[in-house]
Amino acid sequence: MTTAYLNGEFLPIEEARISVLDRGFLFGDGVYEVIPAYGGRLFRLGPHLDRLQRSLDAIRIRNPLDREQWQQVLERLLEENRAEAGPDNDQSVYLQVTRGVAPRRDHPFPTAVEPTVYATSSPIAPPDPAIAEKGISAITLDDIRWQYCHIKAITLLPNVLLRQQAVDAGVGEAILVRDGKAMEGSASNLFVVKDGVILTPPVSNQLLPGITRDLVLELARQHGMPAREQDIPEPLLKDADEVWVTSSTREIVPVTELDGKAVGDGKPGPVWQKMIGHYRDYKEAVRRGEAS
Ligand code: PMP
Repeated sequence: MTTAYLNGEFLPIEEARISVLDRGFLFGDGVYEVIPAYGGRLFRLGPHLDRLQRSLDAIRIRNPLDREQWQQVLERLLEENRAEAGPDNDQSVYLQVTRGVAPRRDHPFPTAVEPTVYATSSPIAPPDPAIAEKGISAITLDDIRWQYCHIKAITLLPNVLLRQQAVDAGVGEAILVRDGKAMEGSASNLFVVKDGVILTPPVSNQLLPGITRDLVLELARQHGMPAREQDIPEPLLKDADEVWVTSSTREIVPVTELDGKAVGDGKPGPVWQKMIGHYRDYKEAVRRGEAS
């Protein structure tokens, strides 16, 4: 049975209960993180905890745990849930902090409430070989979200609706376009390759600063692959040689069909092949404890 952490206690997930007065339940008033762990080792824990702190600061919730406490909680979950993971012990940790339980439902921040802290971990399936071979299809959709997309808020209804539109269209991701510019996926960041240069939109309040995004940029620098942060107007997206979407759990996924048309020659491209090699090497270094 899966173990969860709730407000200081480790317990079977089925027994973890929160009040109906929790602000997370009533208002979506909280933030979250998803952190992969390979062979029981947390991947990029530092940047994830930095982003958690920025999300909490942005919505004015005190961080209930310090970095060492977070690490202890997450590592204990990985250990408790070890038996459910495959032989490689690849898991992803989910954590969320809400503003807590207020005495009554009222929009303004309540005073003197303790944040609710919930976390658990679950197995990550190994990357699907069909994706490396064929890539995925995607569609472009209007970005209907708000102006604080840099906050990793649990309030995900627009993302849920957009992602469902992608599922209904039989594709693997929706790429969101705002004011004529492609921003990110419904649950991923966006990269395009044009004339050998890797491009991704600059961070702003209109997209989530993805941990995978930053690692891809770091790996590009390290390995001398030309990369730049710049706006991606829709015509550039449609004319790209390669399109990728990135996230902690899906890694780097080549998009080979966009709005029913082939991207490049319709197969995962050579720049993606090179980058995914570097990414996998990095992941294995984390598994061996030689990187984090
Ligand atoms: N953008 C959005 C909207 C997301 O939901 C996610 C993943 N949850 C990402 C980007 C990718 O972020 P990360 O690489 O940190 O998983």
